[in-house]
Amino acid sequence: MERKKIIPIFVSHQGCPHTCVFCNQVKITGKGSTVSGEMVYEIIHVALSHMKGKGYKTIEVAFYGGSFTALPLAEQAELLQPVTEALQAGKISSIRLSTRPDAINETICCFLKGKGVKTVELGVQSMDDDVLQLSERGHTRQHTFHAVRLLKAHGFELGLQVMPGLPGASFQSDWLTGKEIIAMDPDMVRIYPTLVLRDTKLETMYQNGNYKPLNLQEAIDICKKLVILMGEAHIPVIRLGLQASEQIGLQGDVIAGPFHPAFRQLVESDIYRDDLNALLENVSHEAIEQVVFKVPMRELSTALGQKKSNVDYLKAQYSIKDVKIMGDHDLCPHTVVLQQVNGIEFNVEKKLPLY
Ligand code: SF4
Repeated sequence: MERKKIIPIFVSHQGCPHTCVFCNQVKITGKGSTVSGEMVYEIIHVALSHMKGKGYKTIEVAFYGGSFTALPLAEQAELLQPVTEALQAGKISSIRLSTRPDAINETICCFLKGKGVKTVELGVQSMDDDVLQLSERGHTRQHTFHAVRLLKAHGFELGLQVMPGLPGASFQSDWLTGKEIIAMDPDMVRIYPTLVLRDTKLETMYQNGNYKPLNLQEAIDICKKLVILMGEAHIPVIRLGLQASEQIGLQGDVIAGPFHPAFRQLVESDIYRDDLNALLENVSHEAIEQVVFKVPMRELSTALGQKKSNVDYLKAQYSIKDVKIMGDHDLCPHTVVLQQVNGIEFNVEKKLPLY
């Protein structure tokens, strides 16, 4: 049984002082209307009535989209009131919201604490000021440092969101953003490779030849690097790539960029391939005819790669006729074992840099 349930409330573009070049928040969240306190009350109570008797351990209300804390305080209070009441009545367990780094100050932190908000996610996007400027974010890296300091001082759980592939970004600048994110020690990270969405300024830049999006493999390469960095720092990546929805991908709203409905799996398969490869590099390659790897059963399809691409890669790389990757229910997550080479037991184990 699923233990945690989120009640999402989309405040599309509400609170935003302007529009970032890549953003059509209506498209990202899939919802377009303005939300009121009354609507929040309705959403929560309908959701809770559907969950009744299903034994969820934790229920979280999450405000997604927009820039919650850029709204006037009275509007924030209106939206939060029914949620705070549900929290105080023990009907939900926590409250989360997302916002911009320049929309956090001491007053807002105290206000959110008073309303029972547990988690704040910041749309950092990049720690490179040139990239932020070209993306028309309207804030600098200093705003992010300042917001993180305040949120941590007030004891909020902290999420940071980054977008590789923004205008002006390079592999190096995105990697440095990852390093700076780690230095700020967030509780979780979301990574959204930049897509060109319909009806955005980025679409115009792309059509005019002023912006070149990452291709799918470039996005996998930088995201792999970031996921490994986060894994080594024990920071969970709770989202990698945009969620496929009716609005994104299926109806032509992605004009260009590295959209793939199973983006996370592509990145993790690539990490698997590197580690399978690393295990074989320690074996004498002469006359290898057969190898057997074991991976956790739940990660088998990721280890195999799309259409068994990792198996095909290893066969081609080492001229091996028979490569088997098998699932094992007893293996710990993110572990790969080179079990046999030419029928001889090896049992060499490697931990993947995933968290
Ligand atoms: S701050 Fe967020 S919601 Fe607002 S325009 Fe920028 S990306 Fe969109």
